[in-house]
Amino acid sequence: MMRVRFAPSPTGNLHIGTLRTALFNQLFAKAQGATTVLRIEDTDLARSNPAYETSIMAGLAWMGLTPDEGPHHEGGYGPYRQSERMAFYRAAVDRLMASGHAYFCFCSAADLEAERADADAQKKPYVYSGKCRHLSVEIRDAYLAQKRPYTYKFHVPIEGEIMVSDLIRGDIVFESRLIGDFVMMKSDGMPSYNFAVVVDDIAMAITHVIRGEDHISNTPKQITLFHALGATVPAFAHLPMILGPDKSKLSKRHGATNVTEYREQGFLAEAMFNYLSLLGWSSPDDKEIMTPDETFARFSLDRVSKSGAVFDLTKLTWMNGQYIRAMSSSDFYQAVRPFLTEDNRHAMASLTEKQWEDACFSVRDNVETLIQINDYVTVYTMSDPSFQAATAAVTWQATDMTVIAAFAAGWEAQGPMTAEAIDGLIATIVTQTGLGKGKVYKPIRLATSGLGTGPHIAAYLHVFGHDKVLRRLRRTLEAQ
Ligand code: GLU
Repeated sequence: MMRVRFAPSPTGNLHIGTLRTALFNQLFAKAQGATTVLRIEDTDLARSNPAYETSIMAGLAWMGLTPDEGPHHEGGYGPYRQSERMAFYRAAVDRLMASGHAYFCFCSAADLEAERADADAQKKPYVYSGKCRHLSVEIRDAYLAQKRPYTYKFHVPIEGEIMVSDLIRGDIVFESRLIGDFVMMKSDGMPSYNFAVVVDDIAMAITHVIRGEDHISNTPKQITLFHALGATVPAFAHLPMILGPDKSKLSKRHGATNVTEYREQGFLAEAMFNYLSLLGWSSPDDKEIMTPDETFARFSLDRVSKSGAVFDLTKLTWMNGQYIRAMSSSDFYQAVRPFLTEDNRHAMASLTEKQWEDACFSVRDNVETLIQINDYVTVYTMSDPSFQAATAAVTWQATDMTVIAAFAAGWEAQGPMTAEAIDGLIATIVTQTGLGKGKVYKPIRLATSGLGTGPHIAAYLHVFGHDKVLRRLRRTLEAQ
């Protein structure tokens, strides 16, 4: 049975890059029938916060990526928070001490700093000297008796090479002697990242580790630990980094990096899913707009690229617009409702629920993120005094009044009309006056809305209703 894990540290709100890692784990799992595991890596007690775990869970749920197992759903491999797994780390330390793979290291931060400075001065890559590995039993016992603080260090064999066979990047060879012995358990008893990850990946029977490329340099250390613990090394797949437009690693400098911020702007989960799936992967048929099911059906790791993927907000926004344009009137209305400002709600209080829906739908094609609904509903929220001020400021052309008078006459004569009938009336005026569409549409739009642009005329006039339109037309004509 294949098992993959997603192992975020709850030290911040869910980041776009972290969400992409979770997504690719899910894509792989669906394609292979693997189980997905969420492991919360909260050993950094000072920086971890349960609120961030909640934010991570909410972001995953929003995009339909709730893992099969995790703190929310025990699956026989728990607990799923590292802070609750101390007994596992302790047992592994004891095993590695007993088998001679690990040792007490009494070096202080200052000792290690001096070693590092020495290496820097000689322009050599820094590798821990391993001096505590050679302490005599007497000295070691004396230090322990003195209660000197110590860490547990793992001894990395110096000879040979360690090969990482990455499913995306191919074989990468690391020289063992450049890895150096590393800390497994700190002096406060907390496990190091590299150690905890391996102990957990073994205990949770993880078969595939899919994570960001920034972890490649940790992988040889982890592989030596798997060997020392007598476990099968899982397969590794390191995803390309997400970059900003300037090709440096995506950061706050480039704009919003928190998933919550995108949700609040009105990006749809489906669009985000679609866009993030293309950050480092492409479909064999080059299809771009894909539902989750279409993506699951096409995904394989061999089409994940090695080079960094640029996060392009313009493209994400465009894609979001594509999803919005495919929404039905009622779906769109349900989606935008929570985004309407209090002021806009208030200004449109006289509308019925159906008129509200029609009003929102009439501007659907202008909206690329749901929050933009507030910019486009202005046509419905403008008060009569603002409307009068706007029309008073217009420089009317000689033909405009002819058009407006003809439209007002038709409007009054026909009574309440369907949107199609309104279109028909305007078309008749175009034919009768021979003025061309632009010279007919523009004055009608201005005389009824006070705005130069807006939704389809028939759509908003239909929402305005018969009386409001007639009142506005008359008002414009009388003001001349
Ligand atoms: N907690 C690590 C991170 O957030 C997990 C890395 C891994 O997947 O091994 O980067």
